[in-house]
Amino acid sequence: MPTLRSEAIKHCENCGKELFGRTDKRFCNDGCRNQFNREKAAREKQKAHDNLPEIFKIIKRNYEILQGYSLKGLHEDEAIFTDTWRLKEQGFNFKFFTSQVIERDGERINCCFEFGWYEEVSSTCSMVYRPRQAKI
Ligand SMILES: [Zn+2]
Repeated sequence: MPTLRSEAIKHCENCGKELFGRTDKRFCNDGCRNQFNREKAAREKQKAHDNLPEIFKIIKRNYEILQGYSLKGLHEDEAIFTDTWRLKEQGFNFKFFTSQVIERDGERINCCFEFGWYEEVSSTCSMVYRPRQAKI
């Protein structure tokens, strides 16, 4: 009595050609496997960078908003205050910054290049000038 074989026909995951031989085979040869893996890695790398242009725009917008407060020329111990909601209303995004400074008193200042800010408890935002943060 012949044994029934009900194997589904498998195809190469790269080129689609019909596969013969071992049942766990995924590709017709090393070349196809390598090409598949190279393209898969390239797709994943591209996916990881998909949000970058949007983040650049946010950082640029944050920088332009901070520029509008004339922070240049402030001394290290000086700050300009504004309401946090006012910055938000202008489109400021507090999540994105280019560097961070931890001051002597432990205060963390987020910087967008040379302009920094930190939120006060009272919904006020202090803005400072830290030219060293824009130097590489
Ligand atoms: Zn193939």
